[in-house]
Amino acid sequence: EHVCTDEVSKAKAASKSAGQPTIFSKILDKSIPADIIYEDSQCIAFRDVTPQAPVHFLVIPRKPIPGISDVTQEDEELLGHLLFVASQVAKDEKLEKGYRVVINNGPDGSQSVYHLHVHVMGGRQMTWPPG
Ligand code: IMP
Repeated sequence: EHVCTDEVSKAKAASKSAGQPTIFSKILDKSIPADIIYEDSQCIAFRDVTPQAPVHFLVIPRKPIPGISDVTQEDEELLGHLLFVASQVAKDEKLEKGYRVVINNGPDGSQSVYHLHVHVMGGRQMTWPPG
């Protein structure tokens, strides 16, 4: 099956830059602006610039891990923390009717930014399966 949406081709192109600093490094060091809604010593959460739902934010570690397939055992607690923060910020955002948590990984996962991030989307009925 041949799939060639704009999103997918962008994601495939992005995979070639895996390992390089990303736009999320600049958000972390505040050299570019973002709508940051939570931060602590290990992670930050900010609104996605191209929201796919009425509420769409990302939770990212300060540690520049390219993707979920790059983690090691030393990242185990950090991964738990990212999901915990996702749940707390979802509460702050009043997503009491539910929401979706997504991690895209690699070219087939349509990952476009190679700094690990957890998507949280809500505020509308989500559908399944995803594209
Ligand atoms: P991915 O496709 O899972 O890698 O998701 C990357 C996400 O980052 C996409 O939803 C983009 O809209 C989002 N994004 C890219 N650049 C920025 C930015 O500068 N600020 C906020 N979100 C961004």
